[in-house]
Amino acid sequence: MKVWVLGSGSAGNAVLIECGGSRILVDCGFGTRTLAGRLKAIDVAPASIEACIVTHEHADHIGGAAAGARKWGWQLYASRGTMNAWPALVEASCIQLGVGTAFALERMQIDTCAIPHDAAMPIGVRVTSSSTGASAVVCTDLGHVNDGIRTLCADADLLILESNHDEGMLRTGSYPPSVRARIGSRVGHLSNRACAQLARDMVHKNLSHVVLAHLSENCNDHGTAHRATANALSLTRYRGAVSVAMQHTVVGPFTPKAGRTQHETQYAFAL
Ligand SMILES: [Zn+2]
Ligand SMILES: [Zn+2]
Repeated sequence: MKVWVLGSGSAGNAVLIECGGSRILVDCGFGTRTLAGRLKAIDVAPASIEACIVTHEHADHIGGAAAGARKWGWQLYASRGTMNAWPALVEASCIQLGVGTAFALERMQIDTCAIPHDAAMPIGVRVTSSSTGASAVVCTDLGHVNDGIRTLCADADLLILESNHDEGMLRTGSYPPSVRARIGSRVGHLSNRACAQLARDMVHKNLSHVVLAHLSENCNDHGTAHRATANALSLTRYRGAVSVAMQHTVVGPFTPKAGRTQHETQYAFAL
């Protein structure tokens, strides 16, 4: 299994996951031209991607999904609520997935869970390689952590978790009170502190990579986010790596193995 974060944050999200030559996206919040540029940087043809699982209908996750499906023949998957909220998915022959019900693609199994966020029926996604058993979780845009999320993340080899904001920076930042309240709410976005706590609680002997994602450009910075989770993990037996996903550059590949994730080359692509 290979995993790249093609971009992460309120200006667009997409995660590429490859298992045994089969490729899927989790979210496509970039227009087709931007996405093609990100994929070109890692030498992946957009038409080689088979499916795109859309987590929710916010534009930074769904904005390019239907156009990508039309242009490159991807099969779209989304929850009933997400499909109802975004008619273009239905027009692009999206398949409805049952939240909490596992389904199989060619070389991988997909598990999902409901997440608390101010969208119709948002989901977290876990992908497990059918051949190696390696697994990766993508879980961003959540106001708080619940038992379903902990179950989805349990024993995963690679975790991509939202670390959206520093609570102090959110309090004192320039956002209007209504936006601040939305971000910090139970259905908003996950703080660095809550992300660190989740990562710490999810440590098991095989977890070897945590990737922090969906960082706010106004109420966070890479060092602050990294410190929060790395410090929390340093108090545990965790000896793996902590990386930060970028908004404008590709990060990866992460190569989770069942039992041990390796990060072959930690690099970001300048675009
Ligand atoms: Zn988002
Ligand atoms: Zn969202």
